[in-house]
Amino acid sequence: MLARLRTSHPFRRLGAGLTPLQVLACAAVLFLTDWAVQRVGASFLPRGPLDETAHLLTALLLLQGLPTGWRSRFIVPALIGSVAIDLDHIPQDLGYGFLTDGTPRPYTHSLLTIAVLLVLAVALRRRRDLLLGLALGLALHFLRDLAEGNGSGVALLWPLTDRGYSYPHAAYLGLMACVSAADLVLALVSRRARAATPGPRAHRSGSRATDAPPRASTPSAPRSPRAGLTRFDPRRSTEPVGGRNTGR
Ligand SMILES: [Zn+2]
Repeated sequence: MLARLRTSHPFRRLGAGLTPLQVLACAAVLFLTDWAVQRVGASFLPRGPLDETAHLLTALLLLQGLPTGWRSRFIVPALIGSVAIDLDHIPQDLGYGFLTDGTPRPYTHSLLTIAVLLVLAVALRRRRDLLLGLALGLALHFLRDLAEGNGSGVALLWPLTDRGYSYPHAAYLGLMACVSAADLVLALVSRRARAATPGPRAHRSGSRATDAPPRASTPSAPRSPRAGLTRFDPRRSTEPVGGRNTGR
């Protein structure tokens, strides 16, 4: 299923990297949603969807820093993991505190969950990319949760301690501004490199002697019966080609 998702068109595009315009759009939406999250209060609507959008875009922008091969392998499970981990809030929202007794967030919001995924990745070779991607997505999720404005923090070291760790929200905003700027530079460099890479079109126009024979000769063949005859002339390879020369 992961392989099918990874080869589907939108995810294949994501694996190839964002364009400069997409980087700018993602950064703009991230900072806008983050600004809104800080002002809408604690109710699930609209805070939940806004916060998950910010989590998804945080992960997407940070994943641009990976080498292309790694990004293609991990981007689908990492993006899923970057938002799916918040499903562990559901019991608390329904009034059950068995996952949050004494900690600011559910116990699964801890390094222990990442460690379990990494151990499973070592043990289950066929699911390795999925599990490593999910672990990466969780780490990127915690990066934003640690900087949540209300200061509740994340009990990263549970069960060793219930203490919630956090860092200033301004530091998160500064980090994401730097990451967005770096992504933009990478996207511009990547686009320039792709444009400079000789493709089939550049190859055809580079030298007439390197034209693919069937495609190059076919358009000129119907011009005149004489042109058609020259296709079978053994001296053709030593004579100049082109409409003017073949007409003598
Ligand atoms: Zn969370």
